[in-house]
Amino acid sequence: MRALVFHGTGDVRCEALPDPTPPDKNGVVVRVERAAICGSDLHLYNGALPTAEAGFAIGHEFVGEVAEVGSGVRRFATGDRVLVSGVIGCGACDSCVRGRVIRCERFQTRVFGTSSGLPGGQAEAVAVPGADAALRSIPDGITTEQAVLLTDILPTAQFGARGADIRPGQDVAVIGLGPVGLLAVDCAQLFGPARVFAIDRVPARLAAAEARGAIPVEAGSEAVAEVRERTGGFGPDAVIEAVGADETIQAAIELVRVGGAVSVVGVNLNPAFPFPMALAMMKDLRFTIGICPIPELWDELIPLVQAGRLAPEHVFTHRMPLSKGRDAYAIFGARTDGVLKVLLDPSA
Ligand code: NAD
Ligand code: ZN
Ligand code: ZN
Repeated sequence: MRALVFHGTGDVRCEALPDPTPPDKNGVVVRVERAAICGSDLHLYNGALPTAEAGFAIGHEFVGEVAEVGSGVRRFATGDRVLVSGVIGCGACDSCVRGRVIRCERFQTRVFGTSSGLPGGQAEAVAVPGADAALRSIPDGITTEQAVLLTDILPTAQFGARGADIRPGQDVAVIGLGPVGLLAVDCAQLFGPARVFAIDRVPARLAAAEARGAIPVEAGSEAVAEVRERTGGFGPDAVIEAVGADETIQAAIELVRVGGAVSVVGVNLNPAFPFPMALAMMKDLRFTIGICPIPELWDELIPLVQAGRLAPEHVFTHRMPLSKGRDAYAIFGARTDGVLKVLLDPSA
C-alpha cells in the first residue's frame, strides 16, 4: 500500500509500505477513504516532538471501510464504514470501554501515526487495535468529511468548550483560529454565550470566525486590553486556548475574568513553561488542560452534526490526493495558499 511516511523533520514522502494485517484478534484493518492533516501532525513534521524513529505512516484523522476483522471483534464486520478515534487506549479496560481513552487504566493511551508502534492513517490502509472501542460506524446523515472531523478536532473543540464551563449569557474568548479554534467558536456557541471574542493574527481566519458569529480581535500586544475593555474592564468569563504557545497560554490566564475558567487544548511541549502561578491564584481561576477523550464525545456530537447544529466541514480548504502528500505538508506547514485544513484522498 501507499502511505505518507515520516522520514524526519520536514520530510514526508508518499511511498509503498507493506499492507497492514489485523494487529491482534481484537483488531481490524481499515481501508482508508479520506484522511486529514492536523496541527498536531505539524508538531512531528516541524521537529517539536523528539522522536528517534522514522519510516512509519503518519496521521491520526481518518475514516474508511473495515477490510479485515480479527476473531475477537464483536461490533464490526467487513464492509462497515467507520470513523476511527485518533487517540486510543488498550480498548478493554473500563475507561476505554466508556470512551475515556486518555484515562486508560493500563496506561496504553496512544495517538495513531506518531511512532512505528501504531502507524497512522494518511495511508491506503491502517491496522486498528482494540477495534470495538476505537471505531464507530459512520451514522446516517454524516458525510465523509464530517466523519473525518469527528475523529479528532470537532471532539477536541467541544472538549475545549466543555472545559471552559460556559453558562448562558457569559462572554467567551477563543485564542487561535486554526481549524481547532474555529470549531471551538462553533462549539462555544452551543452553550449560549452572549459574545465570543475570537483572537488570531491571520486576517482570513479572523474573517472566518466573524462569519461564525464571533467578534474578531487581532492578536498582538493590545489584544488582552482590547477584550478587557469590551467586557467592562473585567475580561471574559471563559477563555479557550487553541494555539499551544507559551505566550497564548499566558495571555489566556491574563485575559480571563477573576473567578473564570481557562481551557487549554493547544499542545505545549515546553517543560520549562513559566506558569504565572501568583496571577492564577489571585484570580481564583479554574485551569483545565488535556488530550481529548475522542470517543466519549461522539454521543453528543453526532446528533448535533446530523441535525445541522454543527457543520464542521467549513474548515476544509484543500482536497488533495495522497500522492501529493509531500506538497500538502509543505503548504500546510508554511500556511501558504490560504490553507486551513487539508483533506487527503488515498485513492489518488
Ligand atoms: P493551527 O496551527 O492550524 O492553528 C493555530 C492558530 O493559532 C493559527 O491560526 C495561528 O495563526 C494562531 N496563532 C499563533 N500564534 C498566535 C498568537 N500569538 N495569538 C493568537 N493566535 C495565534 O492548529 P490547529 O490544527 O487548529 O490546532 C491547534 C492546537 O490544538 C495545536 O496545538 C494542536 O496540536 C492542538 N490539538 C490538541 C488536541 C487535544 O486533544 N488537546 C487535539 C487536536 C489538536
Ligand atoms: Zn488531530
Ligand atoms: Zn484501557
